[in-house]
Amino acid sequence: MIDPLPATPALPRDLLGRPLHDLRISVIETCNYRCPYCMPEGLTPDETALDRASRLGFDEIETAVRAFARLGVSKLRLTGGEPLLRRHLPDLVARLAAVPGIEDLALTTNGSLLAGQAHALRQAGLQRLTVSLDALDPAMFRSLSGGRGNLDDVLAGIAAAEAAGFRSIKVNCVIQRGLNEDQVLAIAGHFRGTPHVPRFIEYMDVGNCNGWRREGVVPSAELRDRIHARWPLRSLTPTYRGEVATRHGYEDGAGEVGFVSSVSDPFCGDCHRARLSADGQLFTCLFAARGQPLREHIGHGEDALAEHLAGLWRVRADRYSEQRASAPADRKKIEMFYIGG
Ligand code: SAM
Ligand code: SF4
Ligand code: SF4
Repeated sequence: MIDPLPATPALPRDLLGRPLHDLRISVIETCNYRCPYCMPEGLTPDETALDRASRLGFDEIETAVRAFARLGVSKLRLTGGEPLLRRHLPDLVARLAAVPGIEDLALTTNGSLLAGQAHALRQAGLQRLTVSLDALDPAMFRSLSGGRGNLDDVLAGIAAAEAAGFRSIKVNCVIQRGLNEDQVLAIAGHFRGTPHVPRFIEYMDVGNCNGWRREGVVPSAELRDRIHARWPLRSLTPTYRGEVATRHGYEDGAGEVGFVSSVSDPFCGDCHRARLSADGQLFTCLFAARGQPLREHIGHGEDALAEHLAGLWRVRADRYSEQRASAPADRKKIEMFYIGG
């Protein structure tokens, strides 16, 4: 008798018809910075860091990725906390790059440790890099990192990444009203004429500890107008459906900038992203109150895990950013450094 083929769950769609395409994996929940919008000093004590045994091991992460890939995930992003604090990260990159179905493997980092690791990450198969950079003024940069970051380290990290063969690096920049607004033109100007793409991200109400106020948000339209007044821009077509950033090119051909407008122009309708926390919880929205524990299911192997994940995705109805205006101010939300950006 011929054994039946293993049951492969059909590519699931959630309750709003959205497929599952992207997975963000937080490989560590702690950080060497204390950016006030993410992990404010004092309010997020170091005890929030997990002990090592609570973090998913590389075998578990690989099993999870194999299961997600069977459900349609082709894009992976490693994040944190600060992912470059996770020991032996290039080994994980090499394993994930080899998973069938994974076509795009990226990493988001604060760049502080990138100079020493860019080459190994590239060699391991990392395809794309995003480096966060909120100011080019050294004192302001330090202050925005909670007094811990050094601008030169990040610029050296970007240079090392270029040398290692990363061609077009995305540069994440969160602009806050009255804080670093004057850095917009400096950052845009710094990367004009390079293949790198600054992406201006609206300050978001992630988590409960950053003291978010709507007045602190600078809408993307305003930032775009400021840059356009100095260096005229034109809209570019999205690279793929559901792209988070809207793309704009300089009319003189000197490169590209992007805007992520999750407060002023929510994009929940096209959100096909899941998130896996360092301790193995699945989050189907960045603003969720709680996750679904996966570790035990990972232990049951790829087939059973894929079935379980498909079931969780099929009942997803998240669309927080579209409902923000009516959300209660005291709504509990998971913290950004825990879930990954
Ligand atoms: N530590 C890495 C880094 O900073 O790039 C990766 C994790 S961090 C949580 C990912 C991204 O989230 C960063 O680009 C950061 O600027 C962004 N971020 C954190 N808190 C934010 C907030 N409240 N609003 C908007 N973006 C935020
Ligand atoms: Fe750390 Fe990144 Fe959060 Fe800043 S944004 S505190 S670098 S995890
Ligand atoms: Fe996706 Fe949630 Fe963000 Fe909407 S609010 S785009 S559902 S992560």
